Amino acid sequence: MTQSSERVGVVKALGRALMLRCPRCGISGILNGWFKLKDSCPRCALALRRSPEDDEWFGGYFMNLMASELLMIFVVIGYVLLHWPAIDWTTVEVLSVVMVVVSPVISYPFAKVLWVAIEFVFAERAGTKNRRGDLRGRAKHEGRLGEERRLRCEGEKQNGETNGETAL
Ligand SMILES: [Zn+2]
Repeated sequence: MTQSSERVGVVKALGRALMLRCPRCGISGILNGWFKLKDSCPRCALALRRSPEDDEWFGGYFMNLMASELLMIFVVIGYVLLHWPAIDWTTVEVLSVVMVVVSPVISYPFAKVLWVAIEFVFAERAGTKNRRGDLRGRAKHEGRLGEERRLRCEGEKQNGETNGETAL
């Protein structure tokens, strides 16, 4: 397994994210369409989505706000510089309005994967692998909890039965 044995550098992880690839193993195809990340990386099982109770959405939206603003500024300033000094200000206005609508859509998956990469890099550095750890680890953990719960229930049921038997 390629995961965890080699540490991924910050630049490498962010570069992979900007190409919409898994920050840990670099595989492509981690999106379900344009707006949705897969639950985990198909190759290394890095958790790409967490539960809604986690604060993951906030980081993703913040990243998207920044990315879309940057994209908008880049395009509008690019237009102004390309047409300097004969700038059609009506076009600049229309372009600005169009970019306000379009740029968050364009930048959305990049922002989401970038946030995954940032969390992954920080978690790796801090040694808290499970926060952005692999889903299999979490599933194993949840499976163990489920197993403990099941055993507890069975134990209680048996106790009930044996208590019932002794009462007879
Ligand atoms: Zn991966």
